Amino acid sequence: MATHVKSPAEKSSAGPEGVRETVAAVIADVRDRGDAAVREYSEKFDNWSPASFRLSAEEIDRIVATVPVQAIDDIRAVQARVRAFAQRQKDSLHDFEVETEPGVRLGQKNIPVRAAGAYVPGGRYPLVASAHMTVVTAKVAGVERVAACTPPIRGEIPAATIAAMHLAGADEIYLLGGVQAVAAMAVGTETIGRVDLLAGPGNAYVAEAKRQLYGEVGIDLFAGPTEILIVADDAADPFVVAVDLLSQAEHGPDSPAVLITDSAALAREVIDLVDRILVDMPTRDFAGPAWRDHGEVVLVDDLAQAYALADDYAFEHVQVLTRNPREALTAMREYGALFLGEKTCVSYGDKVIGTNHTLPTRKAARYTGGLWVGKYLKTVTYQEVTSQAASAELGRLCGRAARLELFEGHARSGDVRAHKYEGDPLPW
Ligand code: NAD
Repeated sequence: MATHVKSPAEKSSAGPEGVRETVAAVIADVRDRGDAAVREYSEKFDNWSPASFRLSAEEIDRIVATVPVQAIDDIRAVQARVRAFAQRQKDSLHDFEVETEPGVRLGQKNIPVRAAGAYVPGGRYPLVASAHMTVVTAKVAGVERVAACTPPIRGEIPAATIAAMHLAGADEIYLLGGVQAVAAMAVGTETIGRVDLLAGPGNAYVAEAKRQLYGEVGIDLFAGPTEILIVADDAADPFVVAVDLLSQAEHGPDSPAVLITDSAALAREVIDLVDRILVDMPTRDFAGPAWRDHGEVVLVDDLAQAYALADDYAFEHVQVLTRNPREALTAMREYGALFLGEKTCVSYGDKVIGTNHTLPTRKAARYTGGLWVGKYLKTVTYQEVTSQAASAELGRLCGRAARLELFEGHARSGDVRAHKYEGDPLPW
Protein backbone atom coordinates (compact mmCIF):
# COMPACT_ATOMS: atom_id res chain seq x y z
CA MET A 1 0.00 0.00 0.00
CA ALA A 2 1.23 3.51 -0.76
CA THR A 3 0.33 6.25 1.75
CA HIS A 4 1.12 9.95 1.45
CA VAL A 5 2.99 11.19 4.52
CA LYS A 6 3.20 14.59 2.81
CA SER A 7 0.83 15.47 0.02
CA PRO A 8 1.30 18.29 -2.49
CA ALA A 9 -0.81 21.37 -1.81
CA GLU A 10 -1.63 21.44 -5.53
CA LYS A 11 -1.88 18.19 -7.42
CA SER A 12 -1.34 19.66 -10.84
CA SER A 13 2.07 20.79 -12.02
CA ALA A 14 0.65 22.38 -15.11
CA GLY A 15 2.56 25.59 -14.42
CA PRO A 16 1.30 29.13 -14.91
CA GLU A 17 -2.14 29.75 -16.38
CA GLY A 18 -2.57 30.63 -20.01
CA VAL A 19 0.84 29.41 -21.15
CA ARG A 20 -0.55 27.79 -24.28
CA GLU A 21 -2.38 30.93 -25.44
CA THR A 22 0.50 33.29 -24.67
CA VAL A 23 2.94 31.09 -26.53
CA ALA A 24 0.68 30.69 -29.56
CA ALA A 25 0.23 34.47 -29.80
CA VAL A 26 3.99 35.18 -29.62
CA ILE A 27 4.81 32.53 -32.23
CA ALA A 28 2.15 33.87 -34.61
CA ASP A 29 3.45 37.40 -34.21
CA VAL A 30 7.10 36.46 -34.75
CA ARG A 31 6.04 34.57 -37.85
CA ASP A 32 4.19 37.65 -39.19
CA ARG A 33 6.45 40.47 -38.16
CA GLY A 34 9.88 38.88 -37.65
CA ASP A 35 12.50 41.01 -35.91
CA ALA A 36 10.03 43.75 -34.93
CA ALA A 37 7.95 41.24 -32.95
CA VAL A 38 11.04 39.62 -31.42
CA ARG A 39 12.16 43.01 -30.14
CA GLU A 40 8.74 43.89 -28.76
CA TYR A 41 8.47 40.65 -26.77
CA SER A 42 12.03 40.88 -25.52
CA GLU A 43 11.20 44.36 -24.23
CA LYS A 44 7.93 43.17 -22.72
CA PHE A 45 9.12 39.97 -21.00
CA ASP A 46 12.80 40.71 -20.37
CA ASN A 47 13.00 44.48 -20.51
CA TRP A 48 15.77 43.98 -23.04
CA SER A 49 16.26 45.75 -26.37
CA PRO A 50 19.92 46.07 -27.39
CA ALA A 51 21.03 47.41 -30.77
CA SER A 52 21.59 43.82 -31.90
CA PHE A 53 20.56 40.60 -30.15
CA ARG A 54 23.46 38.80 -31.84
CA LEU A 55 26.82 39.29 -30.16
CA SER A 56 29.71 40.17 -32.43
CA ALA A 57 33.05 38.33 -32.18
CA GLU A 58 34.52 41.41 -30.44
CA GLU A 59 31.68 41.57 -27.93
CA ILE A 60 32.07 37.87 -27.18
CA ASP A 61 35.80 38.29 -26.59
CA ARG A 62 35.16 41.26 -24.33
CA ILE A 63 32.55 39.37 -22.30
CA VAL A 64 34.65 36.19 -22.02
CA ALA A 65 37.58 38.29 -20.75
CA THR A 66 35.47 39.36 -17.75
CA VAL A 67 34.97 35.76 -16.57
CA PRO A 68 37.40 34.72 -13.82
CA VAL A 69 40.14 32.30 -14.85
CA GLN A 70 38.95 29.66 -12.38
CA ALA A 71 35.47 29.76 -13.91
CA ILE A 72 36.90 29.38 -17.42
CA ASP A 73 39.01 26.43 -16.27
CA ASP A 74 35.95 24.83 -14.66
CA ILE A 75 33.85 25.34 -17.78
CA ARG A 76 36.59 23.66 -19.82
CA ALA A 77 36.81 20.79 -17.32
CA VAL A 78 33.07 20.13 -17.44
CA GLN A 79 32.89 20.47 -21.22
CA ALA A 80 35.70 17.93 -21.56
CA ARG A 81 33.57 15.44 -19.59
CA VAL A 82 30.40 16.17 -21.57
CA ARG A 83 32.36 15.95 -24.83
CA ALA A 84 33.98 12.63 -23.89
CA PHE A 85 30.65 11.00 -23.02
CA ALA A 86 28.98 12.42 -26.13
CA GLN A 87 31.86 11.12 -28.25
CA ARG A 88 31.39 7.67 -26.73
CA GLN A 89 27.71 7.87 -27.70
CA LYS A 90 28.65 8.86 -31.22
CA ASP A 91 31.12 5.97 -31.44
CA SER A 92 28.32 3.59 -30.46
CA LEU A 93 26.38 4.53 -33.61
CA HIS A 94 27.47 2.69 -36.70
CA ASP A 95 26.42 3.24 -40.28
CA PHE A 96 25.98 -0.14 -41.90
CA GLU A 97 25.16 -1.84 -45.17
CA VAL A 98 23.95 -5.43 -45.32
CA GLU A 99 23.13 -7.88 -48.11
CA THR A 100 19.75 -9.11 -46.86
CA GLU A 101 19.33 -11.55 -49.76
CA PRO A 102 21.42 -12.17 -52.87
CA GLY A 103 21.58 -8.96 -54.90
CA VAL A 104 19.74 -6.80 -52.31
CA ARG A 105 21.69 -4.24 -50.31
CA LEU A 106 20.10 -2.26 -47.49
CA GLY A 107 21.93 0.40 -45.56
CA GLN A 108 21.60 2.87 -42.74
CA LYS A 109 23.41 6.17 -42.21
CA ASN A 110 23.38 8.79 -39.46
CA ILE A 111 23.47 12.32 -40.90
CA PRO A 112 23.70 15.38 -38.65
CA VAL A 113 21.11 18.11 -39.09
CA ARG A 114 22.58 21.14 -40.86
CA ALA A 115 21.62 23.75 -38.27
CA ALA A 116 20.58 23.46 -34.63
CA GLY A 117 19.25 26.03 -32.19
CA ALA A 118 20.52 25.65 -28.64
CA TYR A 119 18.30 27.21 -25.98
CA VAL A 120 20.18 27.95 -22.77
CA PRO A 121 17.81 29.02 -19.99
CA GLY A 122 18.52 32.08 -17.92
CA GLY A 123 15.39 33.59 -16.44
CA ARG A 124 16.09 32.82 -12.79
CA TYR A 125 19.62 31.42 -12.87
CA PRO A 126 22.34 31.66 -15.52
CA LEU A 127 22.25 28.00 -16.60
CA VAL A 128 25.86 27.83 -17.77
CA ALA A 129 25.76 24.03 -17.85
CA SER A 130 22.95 23.98 -20.43
CA ALA A 131 25.42 25.51 -22.90
CA HIS A 132 27.68 22.48 -22.49
CA MET A 133 24.76 20.09 -22.87
CA THR A 134 23.29 21.60 -26.02
CA VAL A 135 26.25 23.08 -27.90
CA VAL A 136 29.02 20.58 -27.13
CA THR A 137 26.72 17.67 -27.94
CA ALA A 138 25.62 19.24 -31.24
CA LYS A 139 29.21 19.82 -32.28
CA VAL A 140 30.23 16.24 -31.42
CA ALA A 141 27.30 15.08 -33.56
CA GLY A 142 28.76 17.12 -36.45
CA VAL A 143 26.18 19.92 -36.73
CA GLU A 144 27.66 22.62 -39.00
CA ARG A 145 25.80 25.62 -37.63
CA VAL A 146 24.80 25.98 -33.99
CA ALA A 147 22.89 29.12 -33.03
CA ALA A 148 22.71 29.57 -29.27
CA CYS A 149 20.26 31.81 -27.39
CA THR A 150 20.10 32.81 -23.75
CA PRO A 151 18.20 35.66 -22.07
CA PRO A 152 19.79 38.45 -20.08
CA ILE A 153 19.44 37.72 -16.39
CA ARG A 154 17.60 40.58 -14.69
CA GLY A 155 19.01 42.96 -17.28
CA GLU A 156 22.60 41.75 -16.95
CA ILE A 157 24.73 39.90 -19.49
CA PRO A 158 25.32 36.32 -18.24
CA ALA A 159 29.05 36.36 -18.94
CA ALA A 160 29.84 32.80 -17.82
CA THR A 161 27.02 31.41 -19.98
CA ILE A 162 28.31 33.35 -23.00
CA ALA A 163 31.81 32.01 -22.30
CA ALA A 164 30.46 28.45 -22.09
CA MET A 165 28.58 28.83 -25.39
CA HIS A 166 31.69 30.23 -27.05
CA LEU A 167 34.06 27.58 -25.66
CA ALA A 168 31.56 24.87 -26.65
CA GLY A 169 31.83 26.05 -30.26
CA ALA A 170 28.57 27.96 -30.88
CA ASP A 171 28.65 29.62 -34.30
CA GLU A 172 26.17 32.37 -33.42
CA ILE A 173 25.33 33.69 -29.97
CA TYR A 174 22.18 35.72 -29.27
CA LEU A 175 21.26 37.43 -26.02
CA LEU A 176 17.61 36.63 -26.39
CA GLY A 177 15.32 34.42 -24.35
CA GLY A 178 11.90 32.87 -23.99
CA VAL A 179 9.32 32.15 -26.66
CA GLN A 180 10.62 34.97 -28.86
CA ALA A 181 14.04 33.27 -29.07
CA VAL A 182 12.64 29.82 -29.72
CA ALA A 183 10.19 31.13 -32.34
CA ALA A 184 12.85 33.23 -34.10
CA MET A 185 15.18 30.22 -34.40
CA ALA A 186 12.37 27.98 -35.61
CA VAL A 187 10.74 30.19 -38.23
CA GLY A 188 13.62 32.57 -39.01
CA THR A 189 13.54 36.37 -39.08
CA GLU A 190 15.36 39.03 -41.10
CA THR A 191 18.43 38.68 -38.84
CA ILE A 192 18.14 35.21 -37.28
CA GLY A 193 18.43 32.29 -39.68
CA ARG A 194 16.06 29.39 -39.15
CA VAL A 195 17.36 26.12 -37.80
CA ASP A 196 16.38 22.52 -38.49
CA LEU A 197 16.26 21.36 -34.87
CA LEU A 198 15.71 23.07 -31.52
CA ALA A 199 17.30 21.67 -28.39
CA GLY A 200 17.60 22.61 -24.78
CA PRO A 201 15.63 22.91 -21.57
CA GLY A 202 13.53 25.80 -20.40
CA ASN A 203 10.58 26.97 -18.34
CA ALA A 204 6.96 26.17 -19.10
CA TYR A 205 6.83 28.86 -21.84
CA VAL A 206 9.97 27.64 -23.60
CA ALA A 207 8.90 23.99 -23.42
CA GLU A 208 5.43 24.83 -24.74
CA ALA A 209 6.92 26.91 -27.58
CA LYS A 210 9.01 23.95 -28.69
CA ARG A 211 5.95 21.69 -28.48
CA GLN A 212 3.86 24.04 -30.64
CA LEU A 213 6.62 24.46 -33.23
CA TYR A 214 7.36 20.77 -33.54
CA GLY A 215 6.86 19.56 -37.07
CA GLU A 216 7.92 22.82 -38.65
CA VAL A 217 11.20 22.33 -36.83
CA GLY A 218 12.60 19.27 -35.09
CA ILE A 219 12.80 19.27 -31.32
CA ASP A 220 14.98 17.25 -29.02
CA LEU A 221 12.35 16.47 -26.39
CA PHE A 222 9.94 18.01 -23.93
CA ALA A 223 12.38 19.29 -21.27
CA GLY A 224 10.35 21.57 -19.02
CA PRO A 225 10.46 22.44 -15.30
CA THR A 226 12.74 20.04 -13.49
CA GLU A 227 11.59 17.10 -11.34
CA ILE A 228 13.31 14.95 -8.75
CA LEU A 229 12.19 11.66 -7.25
CA ILE A 230 14.20 9.84 -4.61
CA VAL A 231 13.75 6.17 -3.77
CA ALA A 232 15.25 5.51 -0.34
CA ASP A 233 15.29 2.80 2.29
CA ASP A 234 16.16 2.96 5.97
CA ALA A 235 19.88 2.91 5.14
CA ALA A 236 19.65 6.36 3.53
CA ASP A 237 20.98 9.41 5.34
CA PRO A 238 17.93 11.66 5.91
CA PHE A 239 20.06 14.81 5.78
CA VAL A 240 21.40 13.88 2.33
CA VAL A 241 17.88 13.03 1.14
CA ALA A 242 16.50 16.36 2.37
CA VAL A 243 19.34 18.38 0.83
CA ASP A 244 19.02 16.55 -2.49
CA LEU A 245 15.23 17.06 -2.69
CA LEU A 246 15.71 20.79 -2.26
CA SER A 247 18.57 20.86 -4.77
CA GLN A 248 15.99 20.47 -7.53
CA ALA A 249 13.01 22.20 -5.89
CA GLU A 250 15.06 25.42 -6.04
CA HIS A 251 14.80 25.42 -9.86
CA GLY A 252 11.41 27.08 -9.55
CA PRO A 253 8.05 27.00 -7.78
CA ASP A 254 6.74 24.55 -10.39
CA SER A 255 9.44 21.91 -9.75
CA PRO A 256 8.12 18.76 -8.02
CA ALA A 257 10.25 16.88 -5.49
CA VAL A 258 9.10 13.43 -4.36
CA LEU A 259 10.43 10.91 -1.85
CA ILE A 260 9.25 7.30 -1.98
CA THR A 261 10.45 5.16 0.91
CA ASP A 262 9.62 2.00 2.82
CA SER A 263 10.87 3.59 6.06
CA ALA A 264 8.34 5.58 8.10
CA ALA A 265 11.14 6.92 10.30
CA LEU A 266 13.08 8.23 7.29
CA ALA A 267 9.93 9.83 5.87
CA ARG A 268 9.30 11.77 9.09
CA GLU A 269 12.92 12.83 9.51
CA VAL A 270 13.20 14.07 5.93
CA ILE A 271 10.03 16.19 6.20
CA ASP A 272 11.34 17.72 9.39
CA LEU A 273 14.80 18.38 7.92
CA VAL A 274 13.46 19.93 4.70
CA ASP A 275 11.46 22.43 6.74
CA ARG A 276 14.50 23.27 8.84
CA ILE A 277 16.85 23.68 5.87
CA LEU A 278 14.34 25.87 4.05
CA VAL A 279 14.35 28.48 6.82
CA ASP A 280 17.59 30.09 5.74
CA MET A 281 18.16 28.59 2.30
CA PRO A 282 19.06 31.50 -0.03
CA THR A 283 16.82 30.11 -2.77
CA ARG A 284 13.87 29.40 -0.44
CA ASP A 285 11.57 31.68 -2.43
CA PHE A 286 11.59 29.09 -5.23
CA ALA A 287 12.31 25.92 -3.23
CA GLY A 288 9.75 26.66 -0.50
CA PRO A 289 6.68 27.02 -2.74
CA ALA A 290 7.89 24.10 -4.89
CA TRP A 291 8.07 21.86 -1.80
CA ARG A 292 4.75 23.14 -0.40
CA ASP A 293 2.80 22.84 -3.65
CA HIS A 294 4.50 19.94 -5.40
CA GLY A 295 6.49 18.14 -2.69
CA GLU A 296 5.40 14.61 -1.80
CA VAL A 297 6.56 11.93 0.62
CA VAL A 298 5.07 8.51 -0.01
CA LEU A 299 5.40 5.51 2.29
CA VAL A 300 5.30 2.07 0.64
CA ASP A 301 5.54 -1.50 1.96
CA ASP A 302 8.76 -2.47 0.21
CA LEU A 303 11.23 -1.39 -2.45
CA ALA A 304 9.54 -3.40 -5.21
CA GLN A 305 6.50 -1.18 -4.65
CA ALA A 306 8.72 1.89 -4.52
CA TYR A 307 10.22 1.14 -7.95
CA ALA A 308 6.81 0.38 -9.45
CA LEU A 309 5.40 3.65 -8.12
CA ALA A 310 8.49 5.56 -9.28
CA ASP A 311 7.86 4.17 -12.77
CA ASP A 312 4.32 5.58 -12.63
CA TYR A 313 5.72 9.03 -11.91
CA ALA A 314 8.14 8.67 -14.88
CA PHE A 315 10.20 11.57 -13.53
CA GLU A 316 13.11 13.39 -15.09
CA HIS A 317 15.60 12.55 -12.33
CA VAL A 318 15.45 9.47 -10.12
CA GLN A 319 17.94 9.13 -7.31
CA VAL A 320 18.28 5.74 -5.61
CA LEU A 321 19.53 5.86 -2.03
CA THR A 322 19.19 2.25 -0.93
CA ARG A 323 21.47 -0.56 0.18
CA ASN A 324 21.64 -1.94 -3.34
CA PRO A 325 20.99 0.96 -5.70
CA ARG A 326 22.04 -0.89 -8.86
CA GLU A 327 18.92 -3.05 -8.62
CA ALA A 328 17.02 -0.02 -9.99
CA LEU A 329 18.72 -0.67 -13.33
CA THR A 330 16.53 -3.74 -13.75
CA ALA A 331 13.62 -2.79 -11.49
CA MET A 332 12.82 0.51 -13.26
CA ARG A 333 12.24 1.64 -16.82
CA GLU A 334 10.60 5.11 -16.77
CA TYR A 335 13.08 7.88 -15.97
CA GLY A 336 15.18 10.51 -17.70
CA ALA A 337 18.34 9.73 -15.75
CA LEU A 338 19.14 7.48 -12.80
CA PHE A 339 21.55 8.41 -10.03
CA LEU A 340 22.74 5.35 -8.18
CA GLY A 341 23.88 5.58 -4.57
CA GLU A 342 24.81 8.35 -2.18
CA LYS A 343 28.16 9.19 -3.76
CA THR A 344 26.53 10.78 -6.77
CA CYS A 345 23.50 13.07 -7.01
CA VAL A 346 21.34 14.97 -9.48
CA SER A 347 23.51 18.05 -9.03
CA TYR A 348 26.52 16.12 -10.39
CA GLY A 349 24.44 15.23 -13.42
CA ASP A 350 23.21 18.80 -13.77
CA LYS A 351 26.56 20.48 -13.48
CA VAL A 352 29.68 18.35 -13.83
CA ILE A 353 29.71 14.59 -14.35
CA GLY A 354 29.37 14.38 -18.13
CA THR A 355 25.96 12.84 -18.89
CA ASN A 356 23.48 15.25 -20.46
CA HIS A 357 21.22 17.20 -18.14
CA THR A 358 18.58 18.05 -20.73
CA LEU A 359 16.03 15.45 -19.75
CA PRO A 360 12.36 14.59 -20.29
CA THR A 361 9.74 16.01 -17.91
CA ARG A 362 5.96 15.70 -17.46
CA LYS A 363 6.10 11.93 -18.09
CA ALA A 364 7.87 12.27 -21.44
CA ALA A 365 10.31 9.70 -20.02
CA ARG A 366 7.72 7.09 -21.06
CA TYR A 367 8.84 7.52 -24.65
CA THR A 368 12.21 9.25 -24.73
CA GLY A 369 15.49 9.57 -22.93
CA GLY A 370 17.36 12.85 -22.63
CA LEU A 371 19.34 14.91 -25.10
CA TRP A 372 22.22 13.00 -26.68
CA VAL A 373 24.23 12.94 -29.87
CA GLY A 374 21.58 10.85 -31.59
CA LYS A 375 18.98 13.63 -31.27
CA TYR A 376 21.05 15.77 -33.64
CA LEU A 377 21.33 12.97 -36.17
CA LYS A 378 18.86 11.71 -38.72
CA THR A 379 19.01 7.96 -39.08
CA VAL A 380 18.26 7.42 -42.75
CA THR A 381 18.17 4.29 -44.85
CA TYR A 382 19.03 3.47 -48.45
CA GLN A 383 18.73 0.49 -50.72
CA GLU A 384 20.17 -0.89 -53.91
CA VAL A 385 19.33 -4.02 -55.91
CA THR A 386 22.26 -5.29 -57.93
CA SER A 387 20.79 -8.38 -59.59
CA GLN A 388 18.07 -8.55 -62.23
CA ALA A 389 16.73 -11.81 -60.78
CA ALA A 390 16.32 -10.25 -57.32
CA SER A 391 14.62 -7.21 -58.80
CA ALA A 392 12.20 -9.37 -60.83
CA GLU A 393 11.31 -11.43 -57.78
CA LEU A 394 10.73 -8.32 -55.66
CA GLY A 395 8.71 -6.89 -58.57
CA ARG A 396 6.28 -9.85 -58.55
CA LEU A 397 5.92 -9.62 -54.77
CA CYS A 398 5.45 -5.85 -54.99
CA GLY A 399 2.77 -6.24 -57.67
CA ARG A 400 0.74 -8.57 -55.45
CA ALA A 401 1.35 -6.60 -52.22
CA ALA A 402 0.40 -3.26 -53.79
CA ARG A 403 -2.80 -4.66 -55.38
CA LEU A 404 -3.85 -5.90 -51.94
CA GLU A 405 -3.95 -2.21 -51.05
CA LEU A 406 -5.54 -1.24 -54.39
CA PHE A 407 -2.41 0.68 -55.38
CA GLU A 408 -2.27 -0.01 -59.11
CA GLY A 409 0.51 2.53 -59.74
CA HIS A 410 2.79 0.98 -57.14
CA ALA A 411 2.03 -2.49 -58.54
CA ARG A 412 3.04 -1.44 -62.05
CA SER A 413 6.49 -0.31 -60.85
CA GLY A 414 7.00 -3.95 -59.81
CA ASP A 415 5.41 -5.34 -62.99
CA VAL A 416 7.71 -3.42 -65.35
CA ARG A 417 10.82 -4.79 -63.64
CA ALA A 418 9.63 -8.39 -63.64
CA HIS A 419 8.75 -7.84 -67.31
CA LYS A 420 12.02 -6.15 -68.25
CA TYR A 421 14.40 -8.46 -66.42
CA GLU A 422 12.69 -11.85 -66.70
CA GLY A 423 10.11 -11.44 -69.44
CA ASP A 424 6.96 -11.68 -67.31
CA PRO A 425 3.93 -10.55 -69.30
CA LEU A 426 2.58 -7.16 -68.26
CA PRO A 427 -0.82 -7.74 -66.61
CA TRP A 428 -2.29 -4.51 -67.98
P1 NAD B 1 14.11 30.33 -19.22
O1 NAD B 1 15.25 30.88 -19.99
O2 NAD B 1 13.61 28.97 -19.55
O3 NAD B 1 12.88 31.32 -19.37
C1 NAD B 1 13.03 32.68 -19.22
C2 NAD B 1 12.22 33.38 -20.28
O4 NAD B 1 10.83 33.11 -20.09
C3 NAD B 1 12.36 34.87 -20.24
O5 NAD B 1 13.42 35.24 -21.08
C4 NAD B 1 11.02 35.37 -20.72
O6 NAD B 1 11.12 35.80 -22.06
C5 NAD B 1 10.11 34.17 -20.66
N1 NAD B 1 8.96 34.46 -19.81
C6 NAD B 1 8.96 34.63 -18.47
N2 NAD B 1 7.71 34.94 -18.06
C7 NAD B 1 6.92 34.97 -19.15
C8 NAD B 1 5.53 35.22 -19.38
N3 NAD B 1 4.71 35.51 -18.37
N4 NAD B 1 5.06 35.14 -20.63
C9 NAD B 1 5.88 34.83 -21.65
N5 NAD B 1 7.20 34.59 -21.50
C10 NAD B 1 7.70 34.66 -20.26
O7 NAD B 1 14.55 30.44 -17.68
P2 NAD B 1 13.81 30.09 -16.32
O8 NAD B 1 12.49 30.76 -16.23
O9 NAD B 1 14.80 30.34 -15.26
O10 NAD B 1 13.51 28.56 -16.38
C11 NAD B 1 14.49 27.58 -16.56
C12 NAD B 1 13.75 26.27 -16.51
O11 NAD B 1 14.53 25.24 -17.07
C13 NAD B 1 13.38 25.84 -15.09
O12 NAD B 1 11.99 25.54 -15.08
C14 NAD B 1 14.18 24.57 -14.90
O13 NAD B 1 13.57 23.63 -14.07
C15 NAD B 1 14.27 24.08 -16.32
N6 NAD B 1 15.34 23.12 -16.59
C16 NAD B 1 14.95 21.93 -17.12
C17 NAD B 1 15.90 20.99 -17.43
C18 NAD B 1 15.47 19.71 -18.09
O14 NAD B 1 16.32 19.04 -18.63
N7 NAD B 1 14.22 19.37 -18.08
C19 NAD B 1 17.25 21.26 -17.22
C20 NAD B 1 17.62 22.49 -16.69
C21 NAD B 1 16.63 23.43 -16.39
